[in-house]
Amino acid sequence: MKTLPRIVVLGTGGTIASTASDATTLSDYAVTQSVSALLGEDSGIERLMRVEYRQPLNVDSREITNSMLLALAAEVEAQLADPDIDGAVITHGTDTLEETAYFLSLTLQSSKPVVIVGAMRPSSAISADGRLNLYNALVLAASPKARGLGVLVTLNDQFFAARFVSKFHTTRVDAFGAPDQGSLGSVRDGQVHLYQVPVGLHPDAPTFSLAGLARLPDVDIIYDHQSAGLHHYRASIDAQVAGIVVAACGNGSLSPNAQAGLAQAVKAGIACVRSSRVPTGAITHSRFDEAGGLVAAGAHNPQKARILLMLALTVTRERDALQHYFDGC
Ligand code: ASP
Repeated sequence: MKTLPRIVVLGTGGTIASTASDATTLSDYAVTQSVSALLGEDSGIERLMRVEYRQPLNVDSREITNSMLLALAAEVEAQLADPDIDGAVITHGTDTLEETAYFLSLTLQSSKPVVIVGAMRPSSAISADGRLNLYNALVLAASPKARGLGVLVTLNDQFFAARFVSKFHTTRVDAFGAPDQGSLGSVRDGQVHLYQVPVGLHPDAPTFSLAGLARLPDVDIIYDHQSAGLHHYRASIDAQVAGIVVAACGNGSLSPNAQAGLAQAVKAGIACVRSSRVPTGAITHSRFDEAGGLVAAGAHNPQKARILLMLALTVTRERDALQHYFDGC
């Protein structure tokens, strides 16, 4: 007899695990549910797979720290190393979901499916989206089609590569997308429809090893704008951060004080990356980058550029080598 796939679900909290005071309150809610309660009793999932639950965290995703990320990656890796486990689902708050997803996609060594899922409405809401999103995530994690695709993110019947997905809406259930690259596929009525496979990460650096890493380097994000001051750069320099990502304007163009602040930061030995406030498109190289010691983020938004810079700084502090990581895709 064919044995059912075995999927582990790791709960970290978020709106999917939250309840509000009544069914029409969609915003003021708190994390109250344990991960094992989220799917409910009547999904029929036990006919499709064996599901086990773990609860490494139960927080709003704005509370997630670098040390939580390191611990979560270690836990997922340990689960996937079990030959009886076929895949993992991680439930997560949507606000910083793309950061955790990208971090895991750059660090997990296993080719087993890993699917991150959240919800835009608390579980107490009218038309709460969490249960179906979780059901779809389980179907995806148990599907042979998801193997080798890297870390996936699913909400609202679609799934995306962790590398490209981002949150684009504050409240709607179709909050997530990848406008330049598109979704990889959809999950509907328990069926996985795969439309395309994601391109790999940089061939020279498919994953970063976390072995023996006690903490990640500190990287700040500074938002540029008209009439920007120098004080944020001074604060980052004083705090001796390892890196700064600037959410610059347009194609990574810098206000006068952003230029001055980054020049001072580079002089202080801080790795500096130009990303953009613009949600789509890539930051192209500038002929001033090399002389100024700056790195162009490519198609990494500021929060993803921060994740990649933290990991890249565990390997090198050299500008050209850092640029090489960001050129990966
Ligand atoms: N505040 C929530 C969180 O990120 C938002 C959500 O999950 O939708 O944890």
